[in-house]
Amino acid sequence: MPLVSIIVPCHNEADVLSETYRRITAAADAEVGARYELIFIDDGSSDDSWAMIEALQQEDGRVVGIKLSRNHGQQLANTAGLSVSRGDTVLLIDADLQDPPELLGQMRAVMAETGADVVYGRRLSRKGETWFKKASSKAFYRLLALNRKTPFPPDVGDFRLISRRIADILETMPEEDRYLRGMISWLGFTQVAIDYERDERAAGETKYAIGGLISLARSGIMGFSMLPLRLAGQLAAFMLLVMLCVMIYSVVQWLSGETVPGWTSLVLIITLTSSIQLAILSIMGEYIGRIYMTSKARPLFIIDRIVGRD
Ligand code: UDP
Ligand code: MG
Repeated sequence: MPLVSIIVPCHNEADVLSETYRRITAAADAEVGARYELIFIDDGSSDDSWAMIEALQQEDGRVVGIKLSRNHGQQLANTAGLSVSRGDTVLLIDADLQDPPELLGQMRAVMAETGADVVYGRRLSRKGETWFKKASSKAFYRLLALNRKTPFPPDVGDFRLISRRIADILETMPEEDRYLRGMISWLGFTQVAIDYERDERAAGETKYAIGGLISLARSGIMGFSMLPLRLAGQLAAFMLLVMLCVMIYSVVQWLSGETVPGWTSLVLIITLTSSIQLAILSIMGEYIGRIYMTSKARPLFIIDRIVGRD
């Protein structure tokens, strides 16, 4: 019988974990013709998450628990889960039940029917999220769409069912700056969407501060495209043209002997050009920082303990 791995990253999810376990096992038990393993990753929680995961593992042999040495972030927690998973297919799902585990059946059916390697959930609506989060993610997805070489489907999170070969290829991609949904999109093969309504969090608070969202967004943009650098180049070319006109104009003025006024234009030119230079420098800095982090080639995550797997 085929094996489905279900990967659940948990950062301080003690409030919701028992319910998550109940809903996921109920959904997976309904899947006839498949066995499953349930992999919980404790991503540096400071609450009882790990104790609960250990207790679940004691009760249910299908549970595997991974305790990371500290908080690594959702993307690396999922990566750690993938590294121990053995399933023929792998479901990535959040711990907070915003993504309904009951869709597993439909995802498997679509995968079997279409022969797709990836079946991802597309959010038709998002309940219980602030207007700010909705507006910023909308803007973000539109920004990502500028990158036409590796187009990412909009309104799609990590919630998805992937085939073993996708999971295996992901393991060979060593980048520490991980944006899994983008990496999977970049891989190609056949990828199919199914639509769903995104629920509210079953309990607890969002584990993403605004800083975390911004850095995820940056990984999504910088990790897949040199577009910001190219735009910087185009902006530089445009500024060069403008400055050429200014130079010609100033020489003509000088020749005609009318050169004293001009304080405002000088201030404008200096502030404009220096701020553009700073912006371009910081874009370059982002890329250089990424090269630096990657060149260290550290392991992506550190596992403290594993239960339910030797
Ligand atoms: N998460 C994690 N590490 C983190 C932040 C989040 O493993 O540093 C997990 C979290 O426990 C949840 C999933 O990632 O299972 C999504 O987080 P959350 O629901 O807080 O994000 P949101 O849905 O608000 O974007
Ligand atoms: Mg959530």
